[in-house]
Amino acid sequence: MREPKVEVGILFEPQIEFVLLGTYQLNGEELSGKQTATFNDGKILWKGRLYDELLFVPANERTDSFDLIDVTIGINFHWERKEDQRFLGALKIIVEGKKLTGINVIAIEDYLTSVISSEMSATASLELLKAHAVISRSWLLAQIQKTKEIADTHSNYSAYTETEEELIRWYDREDHTRFDVCADDHCQRYQGITRASTEIVEQAIAATRGQVLTSEGKICDARFSKCCGGAFEEFEYCWEDVKYPYLAKQRDSKTITELPDLRQEAEADKWIRTSPEAFCNTKDKKVLSQVLNNYDQETTDFYRWKVTYTQQELSELILKRSGVDYGQILDLIPIERGTSGRLVKLKIIGTNRTLTIGKELEIRRTLSTSHLYSSAFVVDKTEISNNIPGRFTLIGAGWGHGVGLCQIGAAVMGEQGYVYDEILLHYYIGANIERLYE
Ligand SMILES: [Zn+2]
Ligand SMILES: [Zn+2]
Repeated sequence: MREPKVEVGILFEPQIEFVLLGTYQLNGEELSGKQTATFNDGKILWKGRLYDELLFVPANERTDSFDLIDVTIGINFHWERKEDQRFLGALKIIVEGKKLTGINVIAIEDYLTSVISSEMSATASLELLKAHAVISRSWLLAQIQKTKEIADTHSNYSAYTETEEELIRWYDREDHTRFDVCADDHCQRYQGITRASTEIVEQAIAATRGQVLTSEGKICDARFSKCCGGAFEEFEYCWEDVKYPYLAKQRDSKTITELPDLRQEAEADKWIRTSPEAFCNTKDKKVLSQVLNNYDQETTDFYRWKVTYTQQELSELILKRSGVDYGQILDLIPIERGTSGRLVKLKIIGTNRTLTIGKELEIRRTLSTSHLYSSAFVVDKTEISNNIPGRFTLIGAGWGHGVGLCQIGAAVMGEQGYVYDEILLHYYIGANIERLYE
């Protein structure tokens, strides 16, 4: 296998302006300088002629670049704006709906250098960055395979089951069909070579070139989250009912391997209310700064955390977030937990109605204005009068879904001298690290 290329969907507009900074080829013709392609009656209008697809290939892949004018970044964020961006590799333009799609076709090691430079903190250790490089490469190559397999069928994993008593939903990425990945947070934020890459990231990419995680001959679904809370969650408790051998329960520790069965309520209660030893049980700012951006560092309480709502706050919040009018909230009852203690099903008992909701992300979205840190929580009710609690306190563990690599735990492992393959094989149990290409 040679180093594959990835097709990244960058912009979606009726008209695309771009500047070829080196010499590019299209159908044997040499081109450079400013160009404009326009959507026209289901085709691409360029230099007075209509095309179904355009592919501008650089004479020199490693040095020639092009600019895309007015790329929208931060889509749907408050800071959404346009900027000109610069890319290595080829530019492909296709028609989708009533717009043109500008796609960057680029060698995957170059793509990874860009995304990891912008996603990871510059203070991260080399071993942590190497572990992340292998995870990102695994995700990317699995994504490229999927795009080939699904071709034109649209696969969307926002699946759910619904009855009178129960609403169980989970959310997974919707795949792209005409390119492998997009340049936004939906996939991984990518801005080409607009900003300089980090030198230590270049080292981490080069040191792990071509390496991916595999299991039973397939590339692993290498999930990761901020902080597991001391124990790993299993895939089936967060998404579809599928078991992956390498995404299994385990304590996030090498010194203590004993782990209580956190699916049992009494065990989960004890686990969440205490602060058991684990790699991610840290408040060390130097370690946390490797994983979190500055905004996140304002709080260091996510191994164990606490959120308090008054009756009014909670009932209004749940109504606003779910659209279901429970009336006043009488109780929040754990029905099912996963292997990290995360709630898979939570019963909400109100004066108007009672409903069990799940899985973990649905619970987090329902009980917070943004996302609750995690669904691994226990509930204390206080100020009860006439059977109605005046105050609810949620005591919780971890941040994110807790499946696969725990970023804070991995940063601590890096600090403690573990090397990247030890880190990866701690979180992806029984997986292999294979080099797919030289
Ligand atoms: Zn995407
Ligand atoms: Zn952890």
